[in-house]
Parts: sequence; C-alpha cells; structure tokens
Amino acid sequence: YESLTVAELAKKLNREPSEIIKKLFMLGVMATINQSLDKDAIELVCADYGVEVEEEVRIDKTDLNVYFEEEDPEEALVERPPVVTIMGHVDHGKTTTLDAIRHTRVTEAEAGGITQHIGAYQVDINGKKITFLDTPGHEAFTTMRARGAQITDIVVIVVAADDGVMPQTVEAINHAKAANVPIIVAVNKIDKPTANPDRVMQELTEYGLIPEDWGGDTIFVPISALKGEGIDQLLEMILLVAEVSELKANPNRRAIGTVIEARLDKGRGSVATLLVQNGTLRVGDPIVVGNTFGRVRAMVNDLGRRVKEATPATPVEITGLHEVPQAGDRFVVFEDEKTAREIGEARAQMALQASRAQKSRLTLDNLFEQM
Ligand code: GDP
Ligand code: MG
Repeated sequence: YESLTVAELAKKLNREPSEIIKKLFMLGVMATINQSLDKDAIELVCADYGVEVEEEVRIDKTDLNVYFEEEDPEEALVERPPVVTIMGHVDHGKTTTLDAIRHTRVTEAEAGGITQHIGAYQVDINGKKITFLDTPGHEAFTTMRARGAQITDIVVIVVAADDGVMPQTVEAINHAKAANVPIIVAVNKIDKPTANPDRVMQELTEYGLIPEDWGGDTIFVPISALKGEGIDQLLEMILLVAEVSELKANPNRRAIGTVIEARLDKGRGSVATLLVQNGTLRVGDPIVVGNTFGRVRAMVNDLGRRVKEATPATPVEITGLHEVPQAGDRFVVFEDEKTAREIGEARAQMALQASRAQKSRLTLDNLFEQM
C-alpha cells in the first residue's frame, strides 16, 4: 500500500486504532487516528504483528489497455452482435460484397435516414444484428492488430470463382489464423460462365480450409455479389458462426472500444468513428481516445441519425474530441471529466516525449550515417 491512515491500517489488521497508535508510539512514531502513514511506518507495525505486507500492484491509469483487461461478472454479460471484416484478393469482389450486404437492409428507408459512410455499418436479420467493418483491406486489419486492437470476430474471405486462390487470399487466411478468428469463405462471381467454385474449394484445402461436405469445418458460401445472389445465406452463416462463438458483452458499464477512422472536419472539428466493444457509450460521456480526450458532444449512427447511446458492437461517429485520434486507437470512458482530462493530457505528454525522443534518435542516426 502506498499509504494508509491509522484507522485503515487498524481495520486491515483487525485491531483497535488506539492499539495501533500505542504501538506506533513505542516504535517512535507519533500518530493520530486519521493520519496517513508512509510505507515504512506501515511495514514497521506489520512486522511487529508478524504480518507480511503485500505490495499492491499499482495499475497505470494512463495505460488504456488496462481497462480492457477488466473482467465483467458472468451474470452481467449479454449476447452482442458479431463484428465482421471482409478480406480477399484485389478485384475478387470485397467492395461489391459489402455493397450488396448494405443493400439488404430494409431499415434504411424505414428509418428515413441517409446512409453515410462512417467506416462501419450494421445490418439487421430478423432482429439479429451484424456489424461490418467497411474498410476491406489487409492494411487496416494489420494496423489494428499491430496496435493491439482486436476488433474482428469473424473474417469473410472473398475468392473469385473465376480466378481462384491468389497471393492476397493467402495473406488474408494467414491474418485471420494469426488472430485466431473464424473464417467463412464466400466464393464470389458464380454468375460468370468461367466460374469454377470446386477449384476454389480444392485450392483452399491446401490451407486447411476444408468444406463441411468434405469432412472439414469451414463454411463455404457461393455468391454473386454483383447479382445479390447468396448474400442472405452468407449473412445466415455469419450469424451461425457468431452463435457458436458466444459473443458477449456487458452493456451496463462505461464504454471501451476502438477507433475505426478519424478525420478533421471543417465545421465539426475532430470527427471519429468508434466501435463500442463493451459497455454503453452515451452523449456527454467524458472520454479518452488514444492520446486525446473530450466529452462526447454528438453521436451519429451509420444511418446518419443522431443517437444518444451506443451499445456493444455498435459503430458511431462522435464529435467533441480535442484532437484527431488515429485508426486503431483505443478509447475509454471515465467517471468524470477531470479524470478524462488528466489521463488524456498525460497520454498526450507521453506521446510528445516519445516522438521527440524518436526524432532526436533519428538525427543522431543521421549524424552517424554521415560520419
Ligand atoms: P475488390 O477489389 O475486392 O473490392 O473488388 P470489387 O468489389 O471492386 O470488384 C472488382 C470487379 O469485379 C468489379 O468490376 C465488380 O463489378 C466485379 N464483380 C464483383 N463481384 C462480382 C460478381 O459477383 N460477378 C461478376 N460478374 N462480377 C463481379
Ligand atoms: Mg475494393
């Protein structure tokens, strides 16, 4: 313990405070009941009682990862939607697939909202939601992972049936495997006369992706993203895999999550799309995002509608941050603005120092190079 009052120490030792005061006096320390004792005094008293002082591990409050390690009580957990990333070789149809999925949402017209690009969107299938990250691309995935953010629950690998397994297909498989994320294969472009889905399946067996029909456990869905065929089946399979994964979160805690993308808007200032990974994010929440902080001023969902709160696995665009964070940065909501400010400022300071150190190192290196 860093410091304890006499009363607190007495309680921990199961003694009367007066006894502790007496003991302290005998040990040469004059103390009153509410006085805080330093480590030495605490150790002295404890040693006298034959109690060993266990040093409490001091958590670094400025380390946002710490807040991600806090576990929720089992009974607080409820089902949450899966977060899905689409990967695959260039031109195999990632963008077209994401568009086709987006078009399946009936909610758009009903909600009367305008679909806006916020880097992620949700679809609703018979009351079950799926969150899609709208940034297909291995770079985004790798960047996030390199920064310690694991936000994807399921990877859909799109393979064009007329082209087969290509270098980036293999890369995608490796990424997903390294992240230990289940893979669903969407065999795309089956409308093409030259399409050969069997060949794709055959080729993928080499990478350990074996269809269920062939005794494996990988789900393959033939689709034509262009014609919108097989998209419903693909969504159903995603829900099936999500169910098996038992994805859960605790909506009744302060929100934590990750930045999907961020930019500076002329009128609105710093605008960031956040994926809430646990807890519920609310307008007005004091928040630290990467090395910046603020208070959530306004929140907009993927349909362009203003919302007051965002539950786990929901992407929202927020304003109210002092600076623009980076994609892959983590965010944490704090109990009050003062704490958020302190932690945010400490983090900004540390980042500044780190970048200065890096710069001076670089100039030193340059110097040595020139010598
Ligand atoms: P990405 O690079 O993986 O995002 O691929 P795109 O979605 O941009 O698609 C590349 C090209 O393939 C585009 O010209 C699409 O129109 C076409 N394409 C995508 N899906 C299909 C499909 O199911 N059938 C056919 N015939 N063409 C497709
Ligand atoms: Mg694309």
